[in-house]
Amino acid sequence: MSSVKSTTIVGAGIAGLTAALALARKGIASHVLEQAPALEEVGAGLQLSPNASRILADLGLLDALSAHWSEPDHILLSSGKTLSPLASVPAGSAARSRWGAPYGVLHRASLQALLIDSVRQNPLCTLTTGQRIERTETARALAPSDVLIAADGVWSRLRQTVPGALPARYSGNIAWRFLVPYTAAPAFLNPRTVTAFLGSHAHLVAYPLTEVQAFNVVAIHAQDDAPPEGWTRKGDALTHSRLLEAFAGWHTDIRRLIEEAQNPMAWPLFGCPDGAWTDGKDTVLIGDAAHAMTPFAAQGAAMAIEDAVLLANRLAGTADIGPALRQFEKERRERVAKVRSRGAFNRFAYHASGPVALARDLVLSLRKPEQLAGDLDWLYGYRTPD
Ligand SMILES: Cc1cc2nc3c(=O)[nH]c(=O)nc-3n(C[C@H](O)[C@H](O)[C@H](O)COP(=O)(O)OP(=O)(O)OC[C@H]3O[C@@H](n4cnc5c(N)ncnc54)[C@H](O)[C@@H]3O)c2cc1C
Repeated sequence: MSSVKSTTIVGAGIAGLTAALALARKGIASHVLEQAPALEEVGAGLQLSPNASRILADLGLLDALSAHWSEPDHILLSSGKTLSPLASVPAGSAARSRWGAPYGVLHRASLQALLIDSVRQNPLCTLTTGQRIERTETARALAPSDVLIAADGVWSRLRQTVPGALPARYSGNIAWRFLVPYTAAPAFLNPRTVTAFLGSHAHLVAYPLTEVQAFNVVAIHAQDDAPPEGWTRKGDALTHSRLLEAFAGWHTDIRRLIEEAQNPMAWPLFGCPDGAWTDGKDTVLIGDAAHAMTPFAAQGAAMAIEDAVLLANRLAGTADIGPALRQFEKERRERVAKVRSRGAFNRFAYHASGPVALARDLVLSLRKPEQLAGDLDWLYGYRTPD
């Protein structure tokens, strides 16, 4: 049997598009099938840490990305009650020199548009939109190939075709997202930082989006019960009043920010438990379809990007597809598990209350910025194996 020549990718999200580009770099053709008739992203921001931006740089996208994004000077942890800083990790030029790649923040639509342009220009990539895929047979009939890559997100339909893969579960947290135009932004929002404000059972992250001249705000709150039926993603009055309720007791400036939020969108957060990602023959899950995680470490898209490049590396030049997919799963599972643990740790620390919160604040006050950066070397300094 000859080596892998072609793949079919279901889903043109960050995972699917990056995979098509990474495979093309290895001489492997891809046909991407996407359900959406036109690829438009809803308004939200994305933090791209150096482990992900390094890969995008290798794919030749960094100059274009840099035109859209900003590189914050620091990543700050601050108190949601007093707004005082608790800890600071140097980013900006320090990220470039420490981790060899930038830490950027941008609008999700900008990344999506860049990836789509690159895919459309690449002779080894084909993109078909308006094509919803519910079954592997349909994908194979539309785009016959050696390997089927399911990059169809947290609600993956193709996941059920992989024996041992597990469905997504509600994580016990809800995220609200909204934008605050620079012209209306309160002084405590810093355009040079990514800031996470911490509070009991909740946290709020804010960072600038230069493309839309607004701060991206994500407020996450623990809610044990799965959202009730009829829970909506739209920014209606009920959604807004729930958001206000969740942040009662926070600093008045933060409460005012939430009160004045325009159209906050609610996102119940779902994650995938640790199930199988490949059938060991010719089908593999990547990105959120394989391992959707809560955004406590802001690493979901970064993991999708890392998946894409390792999958291309493992499929390049091999005729043994099943073992190559198993090897991919083994290597990525280890890394993803570590990142998940970091997310769980952040969740515990960010949402702490009472004596645990006091201990957290004390520990953070004793750590120097350089030490905090050093704690992240394994994550941001990571290089995908060849
Ligand atoms: C509040 C929040 C904040 C976040 N912040 C960050 C962050 O700062 N940094 C970070 O790295 N990550 C972050 N993430 C995580 C990140 O958004 C996801 O991990 C990432 O977008 C997953 O990419 P994906 O391509 O796997 O899935 P998706 O982006 O969901 O893409 C899946 C694609 O498949 C298509 N599709 C689905 N079903 C079908 C079908 N049946 N047929 C055909 N096509 C289909 C969809 O239309 C979509 O285009 C955040 C997530 C949330 C919820």
